[in-house]
Amino acid sequence: MGEIINVQELFGENVFNDKVMLEKLPKKVYKELHKTIDDGKELDPMIAEVVAGAMKEWAIEKGATHYTHWFQPLTGFTAEKHDAFITAPKADGSVQLEFSGKELIKGEPDASSFPSGGLRATFEARGYTAWDCTSPAFVRQDAAGAILCIPTAFCSYTGEALDQKTPLLRSMEAIQTQTLRLLRLLGNTTSRKVKPSVGVEQEYFIVDRAKYLKRKDLIFTGRTLFGAMPPKGQELDDHYFGVIRPRIAAFMKDVNKELWKLGVSAKTQHNEVAPAQHELAPIYAECNVAADHNQIIMETLKRVAEEHGLQCLLHEKPFAGVNGSGKHNNWSLTTDDGINLLDPGKTPHENIQFLLILTCILRAVDLHADLLRESASDVGNDHRLGANEAPPAIISVFLGDQLQDVLTQLIDTGEATHSLKGGTLHTGVKTLPDFAKDATDRNRTSPFAFTGNKFEFRMVGSRDSVAECNVVINTIVAEAFSDACDVLEKAEDVQVAVHDLIKKYASEHQRIVFNGNGYSDEWVAEAERRGLPNIKSMIDAIPALVTEKAVNLFEKFHVFTRTELESRAEIQYEGYSKAINIEARAMIDIASKHIIPAVLRFNRSLSETVNIMNQTGVETDVPMDMLRESAHLLTETKKRLQKLVEVTDHATVMEAGRDQAVYYYEEVFTAMEALRVPVDELEMIVDKEMWPMPSYGDLLFEV
Ligand code: ADP
Ligand code: MG
Repeated sequence: MGEIINVQELFGENVFNDKVMLEKLPKKVYKELHKTIDDGKELDPMIAEVVAGAMKEWAIEKGATHYTHWFQPLTGFTAEKHDAFITAPKADGSVQLEFSGKELIKGEPDASSFPSGGLRATFEARGYTAWDCTSPAFVRQDAAGAILCIPTAFCSYTGEALDQKTPLLRSMEAIQTQTLRLLRLLGNTTSRKVKPSVGVEQEYFIVDRAKYLKRKDLIFTGRTLFGAMPPKGQELDDHYFGVIRPRIAAFMKDVNKELWKLGVSAKTQHNEVAPAQHELAPIYAECNVAADHNQIIMETLKRVAEEHGLQCLLHEKPFAGVNGSGKHNNWSLTTDDGINLLDPGKTPHENIQFLLILTCILRAVDLHADLLRESASDVGNDHRLGANEAPPAIISVFLGDQLQDVLTQLIDTGEATHSLKGGTLHTGVKTLPDFAKDATDRNRTSPFAFTGNKFEFRMVGSRDSVAECNVVINTIVAEAFSDACDVLEKAEDVQVAVHDLIKKYASEHQRIVFNGNGYSDEWVAEAERRGLPNIKSMIDAIPALVTEKAVNLFEKFHVFTRTELESRAEIQYEGYSKAINIEARAMIDIASKHIIPAVLRFNRSLSETVNIMNQTGVETDVPMDMLRESAHLLTETKKRLQKLVEVTDHATVMEAGRDQAVYYYEEVFTAMEALRVPVDELEMIVDKEMWPMPSYGDLLFEV
């Protein structure tokens, strides 16, 4: 029998959560800290001192020797710098362990080595991390020891956000303020707080680490730059929801254990569509906590995989020709008294509050489709969006039959009088019970789908932070609520005005609703007729960040300043250029030093075979034909490699910025795709023993 895991005991074991605080902090301190956590009241330094002391004692009991401010700069990764608790040795040579309130609240990493997109040129290099006390501190234990991690936000000397967390917290404030304003107008006097709830489904690949280490492309870029398709791909759909293989199951068990200890409520796990692809989803949490937890999930997947001799690939498209990975961002709004504002109830047509919120969201998504699209752009995600495995690059909203019907009634007659019912599902088997169906089926092809009591934004890439898309969702919905409030506050009869607004928004923004197959060519044509943007690449998406529309939106709700937006656009362009440059260089390296020499060896053995055949008088054209084909592909490879070298060299000397990124996209990326073609053909004819790296078949099917 396997190990018995006591989940209740394990859960949150390494988190400085409310239970621990209640236990370890003096009552008064606990109360004061809660005022900061709950109401955003400034933290008294004296209180911070006591909290830090308790946190230190607790962390040391868990084996921690160091603490770190854990933050999310714009590198796409989390960052940390470890400081030991020790003080300077005393005269007798002994040390003490210390952790002050100041050290808890504020850190000062050198900001100059993190992307700042020009903010650095105009401002000082100093950067500060500030404790986000709404996301609990935790102790991470691994081979390197145990470290107390304090979730923080990261800002420049003059207060510009240099990270993902700061704008996320700002956007949460914006949506809370505007939602409460709306709720009051609708007669709700009891809810005091509103938070976006977010549940993130994370897809990933698992491959054997020894094989991974033989793939320089995976090591340097996270994806395979070469690789012919194996005889079998995902066409049988036999992996999806299939039985989890023992080695993977053992890995998942340890991942869950580690996550539970860190208070991450890992809930669902299953095999995904592609071979070697899997998914993990925790139970939803408050937006900033969910974003932190998603980072912890990604780190844990990678770490535990290595411990199991496996490698976790989080790239959006590790393998050409099979599905890539994304994450689904499930989003709703929850009040402190437990109301999910996106729950339509059984009779949505009577739920005026829900209909107003819903139509405001339609409006927000329609007005800012470009920003949503931008929030999901990522170098790796360019391989997925619009490629019939992930949502199309066109933003639309799926509502389903029931809500669509309510909106149609409203638009047509000005009044909604009934809601479609789900009916009963008849299985046709006597021994199976018939059960009540949902009123609406699912739609897997929609980027922004209503799924019963939440919206699911399905465009995000698997490696990306979910902070970005939630910043956008929170802020655009805050704006829509704010606009609605502006109208309602002036209305003589609020009830009538609400009704009119619902009808107006539903009519004006119908075009964003699409309930059909998002993968079809008809939809692309139809979306164009409707005037919906179809933004095909990251490079085309970035300008959305700095339109006047975007600047007005984000400045109005104090989420980003114009300068911050401009810096973010710069960082995106630079990030794109750097990523493609690394990919191109890796390709050049692998083709020159590994593939071409291997093909030469293969050709030599073919030539020898041809000679022997000639000497012995055996008549067959096979070796000669193979040699000709291989030599032809080799010539083609060399030619295309040369081209890639030229364009990459040219790109490297260009000035960083949009032009350079566009050049990488149009010239370098194109040259990479071209080089791949003859190499993948060569892989199909060269002796497997001679091919310098494991094949797709080895990686995908031999875990
Ligand atoms: P699916 O069928 O799409 O996998 P699930 O019900 O399993 O849907 O939910 C997927 C994710 O959505 C989980 O992280 C779950 O906790 C989260 N989720 C469920 N309800 C909500 C909600 N009201 N708001 C935000 N996320 C939610
Ligand atoms: Mg889902």
